[in-house]
Amino acid sequence: MLQLYIPLNFLGVLYREIKQSISDMDRMFKLLEADREVADTDDARALTLTNRDLGPEVKFDHVSFYYDPNRQILKDISFTIPPGTITAVVGQSGSGKSTLARLLFRFYDVQEGSISLDQQDLRQVQQQSLRQAIGIVPQDTVLFNDTIAYNIAYGKPSAATQEVHAAADAAQMSSFIEHLPQGYDTPVGERGLKLSGGEKQRVAIARTLLKNPAMLIFDEATSALDSKTERALQAELFGLAQSRTTMIIAHRLSTIVHADQILVMDQGQIIERGTHESLLEAEGAYAQMWAIQEQQVEPDTSVQSTYH
Ligand code: ADP
Ligand code: MG
Repeated sequence: MLQLYIPLNFLGVLYREIKQSISDMDRMFKLLEADREVADTDDARALTLTNRDLGPEVKFDHVSFYYDPNRQILKDISFTIPPGTITAVVGQSGSGKSTLARLLFRFYDVQEGSISLDQQDLRQVQQQSLRQAIGIVPQDTVLFNDTIAYNIAYGKPSAATQEVHAAADAAQMSSFIEHLPQGYDTPVGERGLKLSGGEKQRVAIARTLLKNPAMLIFDEATSALDSKTERALQAELFGLAQSRTTMIIAHRLSTIVHADQILVMDQGQIIERGTHESLLEAEGAYAQMWAIQEQQVEPDTSVQSTYH
């Protein structure tokens, strides 16, 4: 009896595993289906960039979008990001900021209106060429179960060691990495070193810098960093943005005061737009957000230890 029990128990485990992998497969097919939605058309062409020194012009033209037909997410969004300029997007959580980034990378197609890069509708260009032109530093970075070097070089597999180190340096990460016992060869992720949110963000920034795309999108990409590291990185990023078209989705307003244009989102709509100065003068939603953030005194980690 006992002998029979063990294999049956084993079969139970096996059954659960098979069931799990079937549900994984199910999820995979759902993903593939979602992907099919944005497949290249037969006559899709490679994206051509008109101005290599400045990056593309980005245009959202009366864009409306939903993930689920029962819930409209973006409503009639229009804006242009001129080549080589920085547009910041601010607004409460859930207002649709990350959705703008996902649509630009064409994870989804819009239901109304159009999005174009250098006058080419995203639906008419080959996805691969689009994704080559855009580098996103997402809100939540997923790292591969591999070394730090691999995770950075993922943006450009052919990169030389020196390039990987330079990217890590620009992302304010090199001294952290060099102090690890195995340096750049340290495995990260589930089976290796656990990185903090801020460290993961910096790996993602290094990866994107190495990829060197014509357009940069930062989605709350420095939100998990302490303000000192964030300031140091900001200087690097603004330098890089000079020769690229850049979208910064920002959490702390202090990081985007120099943006060429700020869009304020609320419930899927742009409710205000302008420069930092003009928005303060307008005394609307942005000015209010600014006043609130000004009041919040950020803890300065460099002096914190002297107080008890
Ligand atoms: P933000 O970046 O401003 O916080 P998001 O663009 O991520 O906002 O989300 C806007 C709205 O869309 C939110 O209400 C969110 O719940 C919803 N949403 C985001 N992703 C999905 C998705 N994949 N499916 C359904 N709803 C989604
Ligand atoms: Mg977001």
